[in-house]
Amino acid sequence: MKASCQADAQRPSTWIKYRKGLCEGCWAGCCTLPVEASAADLIRLGLVTEDEAAESLKKVARRLEREGIIQAFQWKTQLFVLEQRNGRDCIFLGEKDRLCTVYERRPEVCRRFPRIGPRPNWCPASPKRSRRASF
Ligand code: SF4
Repeated sequence: MKASCQADAQRPSTWIKYRKGLCEGCWAGCCTLPVEASAADLIRLGLVTEDEAAESLKKVARRLEREGIIQAFQWKTQLFVLEQRNGRDCIFLGEKDRLCTVYERRPEVCRRFPRIGPRPNWCPASPKRSRRASF
């Protein structure tokens, strides 16, 4: 598959083998996948204090859910699933430029993508211009 084809983020079989430079001009399909964030990620993002996290993650989860920042808390893994705008884009993805608004503080899973993810070393890359109609 050529990089100019449209990959479907929900179907990893349509993804493109990652190579350097692929992110340039991409519509950020990776930022439409659910993001699992740890308490440490939320602290780095400035959404939670260390004291709050040490006291009760369940309480933290209830507050963040109320505030529309997370959609779920996975008790077993202690991970928080970030909310998605219109059920698709990460809430931290810039609506117009489709760039991460918290890049320096982004969660660990975002830093490690595509080395980890549904299809390691492959990504749902498509050029921004071919996606304009669906923004
Ligand atoms: S935090 Fe930033 S890099 Fe991670 S999914 Fe959201 S917009 Fe993308």
